[in-house]
Amino acid sequence: MTNIETRCVHEGWKPAQGEPRQLPIYQSTTFKYDTSDYMGKLFDLEASGYFYTRLQNPTNDAVAAKICALEGGAAALLTSSGQAANFYAVFNICESGGHFIASSSIYGGTYNLFGTTMKKMGIECTFVDQTLPAEELEKYFKPNTKAVFGETITNPTVSIFDFEKFAKLAHKHGVPLIVDNTFATPINCRPFEWGADIVTHSTTKYMDGHAACVGGCIVDSGNFDWMKYADKFPGLTTPDESYHGITYAEKFGKEAYITKATAQLMRDLGSIPSPQNSFYLNMGLETLHLRMKKHCENALAVAKYLKSHEKIAWVHYADLKDDKYHSLAEKYMPDGTCGVLAFAVKGGRDASIAFMDRLKVASIATHVADSKTCLLHPASHTHRQLTDEQLAESGVAPDLIRLSVGIEDVSDIIADLKQALG
Ligand SMILES: *Cc1c(COP(=O)(O)O)cnc(C)c1O
Repeated sequence: MTNIETRCVHEGWKPAQGEPRQLPIYQSTTFKYDTSDYMGKLFDLEASGYFYTRLQNPTNDAVAAKICALEGGAAALLTSSGQAANFYAVFNICESGGHFIASSSIYGGTYNLFGTTMKKMGIECTFVDQTLPAEELEKYFKPNTKAVFGETITNPTVSIFDFEKFAKLAHKHGVPLIVDNTFATPINCRPFEWGADIVTHSTTKYMDGHAACVGGCIVDSGNFDWMKYADKFPGLTTPDESYHGITYAEKFGKEAYITKATAQLMRDLGSIPSPQNSFYLNMGLETLHLRMKKHCENALAVAKYLKSHEKIAWVHYADLKDDKYHSLAEKYMPDGTCGVLAFAVKGGRDASIAFMDRLKVASIATHVADSKTCLLHPASHTHRQLTDEQLAESGVAPDLIRLSVGIEDVSDIIADLKQALG
């Protein structure tokens, strides 16, 4: 394997002689075949080939292959959003009557998905304080537990996930560890190297990087032995009658999990990205390694500036030496975490909001992790549907400002913060 920077540029679409160097956009719903017999084999998953873009599309597949190579996985699938990726990642192995464990500090959208919508589907999620010691966390496992879920760097509290602690626990109980690696990206952290089994992404963030397209991705390491825990995962280890009696784990080996997600979940729920969006995503991925470096450099400079400012109440950024997550960040992300940090202005909620309204370079946006510096006040924006109790449980202080540091010249970002702080 080449170095990750080279993979950003070259993996995925690999043109043969005379083919376009840039990834072609196969903007087509369907693909043509000469015989009905061959088409039948495609539907039986006996032959491989494209037939309908809801199931597979060459542009989408090339981009999935690039992300797969960046994470060091065995197979990957693009989805239309990060929400779809996280839903499919869990639902692929945890159905009605099942239970899974998730860190309570995860992104608000995922928290709602797991705690409200999936609950209506008969799936129970226990949210846990991810800083608890392993002995405490162990108590939350049940006989019907199917997975453990966390975020490498939580959105918006930017705390760092302890991969080894959770991987050990999950594997002891015969279930896979699923990690949302959106904020770190594979440039800064590759969860499979630390024991995670499945990785998800909201590609909407750094991977696209330009606030152009909503998208998601699921990558499977291929390392989890479904057959060893066959009773827990009948969807993978017993015949699928809706696909001519195929047993995914037997027929597809390391690609079983992604094949099932494609053949069942994409077929039936259909959250595919458009090939056009995947093309934009691929353009973003080509410079991901350059941008992540700049985001981290800028964010560290901004974090240091804020930390030294008398009007700032507190700053959370794991790359700061005195941050409580610094040792975990150094272990899992020695090259830096990401461009997102959290802080509060002295004077509480109202002072934070007044400060935000005075900014000129940085914009108020319900977004994060793109080239332009932006910020948001979760308690009045993304998390406004949560009760104060739920806010406290997910660690979101009412005065918390989430700042996503872009790739502008950092002196301009700092000058803007300075004038707004007054
Ligand atoms: C944004 C985000 C999501 C949701 O992704 P969408 O692409 O907006 O659907 C999931 N996880 C994390 C960590 C995110 O930041």
